[in-house]
Amino acid sequence: MRAYNFCAGPAALPTAVLEKAQRELLDWQGKGVSIMEMSHRSSDYVAVSAKAEADLRKLMNIPENYKVLFLQGGASLQFSAIPLNLLGKNNKADYIHTGIWSEKALKEAQRYGDIHTVEAATQIDGKFAIKPEQEWNLSADAAYVHYAENETIGGIQFKDIPNVQAPLVSDLSSSILSAPLDVSKFGLIYAGAQKNIGPAGLTIVIVREDLLDQAKPEIPSILKYSAQAKNDSMVNTPATYAWYLAGLVFEWLLEQGGVDAIHKINLAKAELLYGYIDASDFYNNPIAVPNRSLMNVPFTLANADLEKLFLKEAEEHHLLNLAGHRSVGGMRASIYNAVPLEGVQALVDFMDGFVKRHG
Ligand SMILES: *Cc1c(COP(=O)(O)O)cnc(C)c1O
Repeated sequence: MRAYNFCAGPAALPTAVLEKAQRELLDWQGKGVSIMEMSHRSSDYVAVSAKAEADLRKLMNIPENYKVLFLQGGASLQFSAIPLNLLGKNNKADYIHTGIWSEKALKEAQRYGDIHTVEAATQIDGKFAIKPEQEWNLSADAAYVHYAENETIGGIQFKDIPNVQAPLVSDLSSSILSAPLDVSKFGLIYAGAQKNIGPAGLTIVIVREDLLDQAKPEIPSILKYSAQAKNDSMVNTPATYAWYLAGLVFEWLLEQGGVDAIHKINLAKAELLYGYIDASDFYNNPIAVPNRSLMNVPFTLANADLEKLFLKEAEEHHLLNLAGHRSVGGMRASIYNAVPLEGVQALVDFMDGFVKRHG
C-alpha cells in the first residue's frame, strides 16, 4: 500500500502521476523507448517540454512578458544565479531574513554584492511572526528585494505579497502552485521542484524579460537567464525525466481544477491540522496565526521524551516522515498538493489516539 508521506522534500507525488509514468516507462507513447532515453532535441521531447511550460503558464496565469526556465542545481544554485544575473550596476540588493532558507540565500548573495539584510523575524505573544513591511527599512537603490515566501523549516509564511519599489524576487520552493499568486507582482520567482512540482533535479525560474540583460560578464553561461531563455532552457542537457514528470504533475493539477481548486483543498487540510493542534493541550505550533504556513506545519509534543515513540507509531500507521528538520527538532507535517485531505485526517486521528494512549 502507499503510505501518507509528509516529507518536506523530496515530497509526495500524486499516485495517478506515478502510475502514468510507470505505464509509459518502457515504451513512451509507442516509440519503443523510455522518455529518459530520448534526445532532448528530438521533436517528441521538445513537444513534451513545451507542453509542460504551456501548462505551467496556464496554471499560474503567467504573463507573456515572463520567461519560464527549467533549470538544474536546485533552489540553492539560484541563491548564486540571482545576484549574478540581477545585481546590475548598483551591485546592491535587499534580503528579507525570516528563517533558514532566506538566510542561506543572503549568505550566498553576499559573495557577489552589497547585500542589505532586513531582519524581519519577530515574536508576538511568544509566537514567531513576520514584521510588517512598514518596519523593513529598505534601501532606496536596491536592484531587487529577495524573500522566501514560505520558510519550509520554520513553517512561517508571508500573508501578503510585499509591496516594494524594486523588483521582487521570491523563493517559492515549498509554496509554488499551492495557492493563487499574481505573478505580475514579481520580477523573478524560483522554486526547486521536489516539494510541489515533481522529482528533485529540476528548478523552475519565472523571470520578467526586462531583467534579463544585466548579468555580470563572468557569469557561467548555464546560469545566465538570457542564454537559457534564448535556448529554451537547453544550453546543455536539461533534467529531461524530471521535466517530463513535472509536466505530468501540471496535467494532474489541471485535471483537479487548477490552482484555485487545489488551494481550497489545501485550506481544508491546514484548517483541520492547525485546528486540531490548537484545540489540544498536548501539541503546539510555534507560529503566529497570520504567518502560519499552508504547506509546512511544525509542531511539538508536550513531552519531548515521547518524540521517538510518536515517530515509530506514526510509521506503523503508514504516516511517514514527520520528524522536524534536524536543525530545529520537534515534528513537522508537510502537506503539499499531493497529500490528500484523507491523509491529513489520518494524521489527526493518529495524533488524537496517541494522546489518549500516552498523553
Ligand atoms: C528546499 C528548499 C530550498 C533548497 O532547495 P534545493 O533544491 O535543495 O537547493 C530552498 N528554499 C526553500 C524555501 C526550500 O524549501
